[in-house]
Amino acid sequence: MNINRQSTSSQFSSLEAALKDFFGYDSFRPGQQQIITAAMDNRDVLVIMPTGGGKSICFQLPALLKSGITIVVSPLIALMEDQVGALVNNGIPATFLNSSLSAIEVQQRQTNILNGLIKLVYVAPERLMNHTFTPFLERMESCVGLAGWVIDEAHCVSEWGHDFRPEYRQLVKLRQRYSHIPIMALTATATQRVRQDIQTQLGLNNPFIHIASFNRPNLYYEVRGKGKNAYQEMVQLIRGVKGSGIIYCLSRKRVEQLARQLQQDGIMALPYHGGMDDQSRLDHQIRFTKDDIPVMVATIAFGMGINKPDVRFVVHYDLPRNIEAYYQESGRAGRDGELARCTLFFNLKDIKTIEWMIEQKLDPTSGEPLIGEQQIARQQLRQVIDYAQSTVCRRSVQLGYFGESFSGNCGHCDNCRYPRPVEDWTVEAQKFLSCVARCQERFGMTHIIDVLRGSRKDKVRKHGHERISTYGIGKDRSVDEWRLLGRTLIQLGLLNESTDDFATLSLNQGSWEVLRKQRPVQVSLPTLLNPVQPSNALPQEEEELLALLKTLRKQLADSQNLPPFMVFHDNSLRLMAQYRPQTLEEFKHISGVGQQKLVLYGDRFTELIHQYCQDHELTTPVTAPPKPLPRNQEISETYLDTLQLHQAGLTPIEIADKKSIRVDRVIEHLTILLEAGYAVDINTLVSLTAQTEIQQAMSITGEHYLAPVRKYLQGRYSYDDIKLVRGWVRCQQLQR
Ligand code: ADP
Ligand code: ZN
Repeated sequence: MNINRQSTSSQFSSLEAALKDFFGYDSFRPGQQQIITAAMDNRDVLVIMPTGGGKSICFQLPALLKSGITIVVSPLIALMEDQVGALVNNGIPATFLNSSLSAIEVQQRQTNILNGLIKLVYVAPERLMNHTFTPFLERMESCVGLAGWVIDEAHCVSEWGHDFRPEYRQLVKLRQRYSHIPIMALTATATQRVRQDIQTQLGLNNPFIHIASFNRPNLYYEVRGKGKNAYQEMVQLIRGVKGSGIIYCLSRKRVEQLARQLQQDGIMALPYHGGMDDQSRLDHQIRFTKDDIPVMVATIAFGMGINKPDVRFVVHYDLPRNIEAYYQESGRAGRDGELARCTLFFNLKDIKTIEWMIEQKLDPTSGEPLIGEQQIARQQLRQVIDYAQSTVCRRSVQLGYFGESFSGNCGHCDNCRYPRPVEDWTVEAQKFLSCVARCQERFGMTHIIDVLRGSRKDKVRKHGHERISTYGIGKDRSVDEWRLLGRTLIQLGLLNESTDDFATLSLNQGSWEVLRKQRPVQVSLPTLLNPVQPSNALPQEEEELLALLKTLRKQLADSQNLPPFMVFHDNSLRLMAQYRPQTLEEFKHISGVGQQKLVLYGDRFTELIHQYCQDHELTTPVTAPPKPLPRNQEISETYLDTLQLHQAGLTPIEIADKKSIRVDRVIEHLTILLEAGYAVDINTLVSLTAQTEIQQAMSITGEHYLAPVRKYLQGRYSYDDIKLVRGWVRCQQLQR
C-alpha cells in the first residue's frame, strides 16, 4: 500500500505543487508558506498556531523536500502513531520508534532508516535523550544526514503550561550537541509566558517566529442556560449535528451517568475518564475515532491525544476551569476547518459547586488551605462566569484573554447572531438593594428574593422580615428574574457577595449610588430566539450522495483498519457531493485529493458518483473554472484600458460608467489582469479583512470552485470579492 516516493525540492515547480502532490491541497493556509520557506533555509523556527491551524504540514513538507532525515519529538504514543498513520496513508515515508514496538521491529525500522527509505522519524523524548540512542543518531547523521529536529507540542517544555514534561527539558542537549541542525518548535499554547519559555528552554537561535491569530472562524460559540430543559436541548443538538462530538463534564460520576442516560435515549455514547482502566479507555477512543460511536462523554482526561479532525461539536455540560482550558477544550472541534459548534451550558448553581471545590484545595501535607492557589482559581472562575454572562461577541472575550484584539461583530457566535435585549431595571435594582439593606446585610440571595416576593417561608417570619417595607414589593417578577438581576449587580460590582458558605450579600459604594438614583442599571435578558438547531440543510441530492460517499469511506477505512478521516476528510466528501466529479481528471481537483489518494481511491469514488448521476439523471454541475492565464499571454486593449483607469484611481463602478460596460465585466478584467501579474491594487478593491477571510476559506474549500468558498463564508462576501482575491492569490503563486 505504501507507495514510497522519494523526492527532492527540485522535482517540484513550486511549494504549492509539492503540497498538492503529497497532501492534495491547492493552497497554503495563512503562515504555512513563510514557515516552510524559513525551514528550507535551515533557520530555527517557532510556530504558534491554534489547533487545526495546520501545523503538521509546516514541518512535514520541508522534511519531504530537504535531504536527510527529520526527527520529530512527540509526547504521546497515540499522537505519534496517528500522525505516522496519516502520512503513510498519503504515501509518505514516515515511521516511529517507541516502546510499543518489539526489539525486532525497532531493529527493522532502524535498518530502513539507515538505508535512506524514510524521511520522517517520530520519537518519544525519553528514547531520543537516552544515551543508548546516541550511537544510532550518529549513524543516521553519517549515513543519511540529519535535516532537522521538530519539537511538537513544544509547550511541554514549560512549567507554566498545562502539560509539563520533565523529559522535554533535556531536549536542549540536542542544540548543544548538534548546533548546526535547525530546530522547529510548534505549539498551540496561547500564553506569552509559555512562548518565551519555549525559546529559552530549547535554546532557539534567532528563530523565525510565526504567531497565528487564535481566532477560529469556523467555530460557532454559544452559551445556553442550564435549566430544566438543558438535557433535552443537548439531545436535540446532538441529533441535529450529524457527526461526532465530545461532551465534557466535571466529574467521573457525572460522565458515567450522562453516558448511560444518553444510551438509554438511543444516542450511541461512551464514557471516558481517568478512573477507567487503560484498555477500556483506549478501546473507547478507537471506537470514537473510527466513527463507530458518535459521542464521547468525558472528563478533561480526554485531551491532548485526540487527533480526530472532524469533531463537529464540543459541549461543556459543566463549567470549564478557566478561559484557556475552555479555549483548548472547545478547540478540539473542527480541526479540519469545517463548521463546528461549541456550546457551554451554564447555570448559577454550578458556580457554587466549583466554589466548594476550590475551598477543598488544601496543602497535602499540612492540610492548610492553599490560599494562593485558591485565589487564582477564584479569579479564573470569575473570568469564566464573565465569559458566560457576557453580552458581547464571545470571540472578542476569548481572544482578549490572550491579548489579541478582535473587534466588531463576528457573525458567528450567539451574541452576535442573536443579540440579547438590554432593559433598564434601575427601579428593580433599587428595590433589591434596599431589601438587602433592610435585612441588615446579613442574608444571601435566596432569602432576599423570598422577602421581595412575599414568601411565607418560616425563615422569613423567624426574622420578622414579613414586616419590613420591602416585603412583597417584587411579586411582579419571577425568582429567575430576580436572580438574574442579583447576579448582574454582583458582576457590575454594585453588590458584594461573601465568598464563604453563606454567600451573604452586602452593599458597597456602587450600591449606594444606585439607591441614590445616581446610577442606572441595565440588565441583558436571555434571548428566546437562539434556536438549538440553526437550519442549514443541503439540497436533497447532495445530502443523499454525501451519505453514500460516507458509507463508501467507512468501508474503505474499515478494510484497512483506518479511521475514516484518513481516507478523506469531511470537506473533501462534501465537495464531491456538490461537484459530482465523474472522471479522475475532475476528481483530482477536489481539495484533499493528492497523488496517492487519487490512485488509491479515485476509481471507487468516481464510480459511485457516476452511478448515482446515472440513476438520478444528473450531470456534473460545473465544469472546471478558467485556468489562470500564463503571464505572457496577450492582454487585449480593452483590458489595458481598464487597467489604466484603475491605476488612475477610478472605482470599478466609475470605470464601468466611463466605458459603458457592466460592472461585472470590469471586475472580470481586473481579475484577469491580477492573475496575469499586472499592477492591480487589490487593497483598493477588497478590504483587508475580506482578503484574509476569503483566503482562509479557500484554503479549506479549495479555490477551483467559487460557490463553496462563498457558502463557507456564509454569503458574507460577493462572488466579485472572491474572484478578485483568487486572482491575487494565483498571481502570488505564479510569482514564486
Ligand atoms: P494542528 O496540528 O495545527 O492542529 P493539523 O496539522 O492537524 O493542525 O491540520 C489541521 C487540518 O487542516 C488537517 O486536517 C490538515 O490536513 C488540514 N490542512 C492543513 N493545511 C492545509 C491546507 N493548506 N489546505 C487545506 N487543509 C489543510
Ligand atoms: Zn461574535
